Amino acid sequence: MAEDWWSVASEVGKIDPGYARIGRIQAVPNRPGAEDLAQRRGREAVANWKGKAEWSVTGAGDSWLPQPASGLVVLDSLSARINPARAMLCLAEALRRSGCDILEGTSEGGKTEFTVWATGHEGLQQINRDFAAEIGRGEKGQALMIDYYAGSMPQIYSDGIHVVPHANGTTSVGSTSERYFTSPSTVDAKLDELHSRAIRTIPAIRNAAVIAKWAGVRPRTANRTPLLGRHPRRNGQFIANGGFKTGFGFAPLVGESMAQLILENTSRIPEEFLCDYHLGPRLVKSN
Ligand SMILES: Cc1cc2nc3c(=O)[nH]c(=O)nc-3n(C[C@H](O)[C@H](O)[C@H](O)COP(=O)(O)OP(=O)(O)OC[C@H]3O[C@@H](n4cnc5c(N)ncnc54)[C@H](O)[C@@H]3O)c2cc1C
Repeated sequence: MAEDWWSVASEVGKIDPGYARIGRIQAVPNRPGAEDLAQRRGREAVANWKGKAEWSVTGAGDSWLPQPASGLVVLDSLSARINPARAMLCLAEALRRSGCDILEGTSEGGKTEFTVWATGHEGLQQINRDFAAEIGRGEKGQALMIDYYAGSMPQIYSDGIHVVPHANGTTSVGSTSERYFTSPSTVDAKLDELHSRAIRTIPAIRNAAVIAKWAGVRPRTANRTPLLGRHPRRNGQFIANGGFKTGFGFAPLVGESMAQLILENTSRIPEEFLCDYHLGPRLVKSN
């Protein structure tokens, strides 16, 4: 779905979000059971992906990931890359060209019939306060961009690190997962450590200059699933939150499902993602 969705956004917004289904290579860990698990997921992919993408367990072959100790990698053709900053510019421009107003630097908004609170980890803290509960929190992530052209190589996931080649000849390396942090947007020695680990995993990137470093905060609910739907207490208000580590991937589907709920009053949102499900017992207690 994301492939078509970003292609339309790019056509309307006239900015390339850098989206491409480049696939992914993952090293199969060298431990008992790892190969069986990878093979099982391959069988599940046949059933769940319905031929739209493939998952195969194979030898490392010719790739920028060195041969892992297990001698095996997983190749999937489902994974995609996107350039987050350019994707946001593309989306904003597509909205403007479609007649939407974008007001920046204010939380006042217009006088609208409906409001969607898509306010990330700050919104989760607000929900915690409103319902006197721990519904969610922020989890900081630091990442960096290097001057490395990986051609048409698939992205890599190995040793907990994502290495993602972008369309513009740069490559991203990420990311840390920090439950406790004081500054949401600054980088520190944890990112240097991640960079060193990435170089150990993929020696080919060792001489690439660092172009940018950044940090952000992922909105994480207590059970790690999205938090979507009607605001349980405010008429005409809705919440779209809890994207956590897959918020970009899910965004097109979340956007369409929320629009359907708001404009057509029909829902295809799984029950366990709904606000009422996340807040259920607290709603009874705090009302
Ligand atoms: C390092 C890192 C790597 C990641 N990698 C991936 C990945 O590979 N794939 C993937 O799918 N996801 C990834 N994610 C997660 C993804 O970025 C998030 O899930 C996604 O950004 C969540 O989107 P959101 O719009 O819900 O919230 P956010 O992106 O947090 O945006 C919320 C916005 O609301 C604004 N706001 C807050 N309060 C108010 C208010 N009262 N009024 C108006 N505005 C307000 C905030 O300023 C912010 O701009 C990554 C995240 C990080 C940090």
